[in-house]
Amino acid sequence: MVCEKAVEVFTVISPIGEMIMKICPQGLHSLSQSDYICDTNFHPQERQDVVLIGKESGNDKVQKHVEDCIDWLNVYFTNVRHVGCMYMPEICVAREMGSFKERVWIALAKNIGPGQIVSYGELAKMVNSPGAAQAVGNAMATNPLQILVPCHRVIHSDGSLGQYARGKKNSVKNWLLEHEGLRVFNNKVAT
Ligand SMILES: [Zn+2]
Repeated sequence: MVCEKAVEVFTVISPIGEMIMKICPQGLHSLSQSDYICDTNFHPQERQDVVLIGKESGNDKVQKHVEDCIDWLNVYFTNVRHVGCMYMPEICVAREMGSFKERVWIALAKNIGPGQIVSYGELAKMVNSPGAAQAVGNAMATNPLQILVPCHRVIHSDGSLGQYARGKKNSVKNWLLEHEGLRVFNNKVAT
């Protein structure tokens, strides 16, 4: 199923740099850091509020989703322990409905909260597909909703972080986990 609504694109600045939101009147299609952000130029700004750059939407429904998403991100970055009490911004349901990937994304978002981690294999078991760790890895690599679907909390069973954005943004994964209170040494979560 493909969404037939008009999708608008918005840019926000955030503690992890520029983020792009794609939103239709039904909700979010995607949220992700700008493509150009990578390990060599990632400079987190802990105290940066999440704010919209550029125009608001002329469509009230779209604008409401934009504001909900910004509010959610601000709580995530300033008071991460409370983000579990927030309603998630509305997601446009048209994407990947009922697919393996969607089941993985939902299981992850529902079950693994801030400061928690899960291995690729454990997440595969959660969706009743033990042995599908590689397919889970692929679902993570193609996650359209960065942070909202917390693929940064999925690591290898030996504690090593594994890749983020196919290896381009591993330092962002490290930063997000430490932001949530975990300690990372030599690319491994300290237990
Ligand atoms: Zn849509």
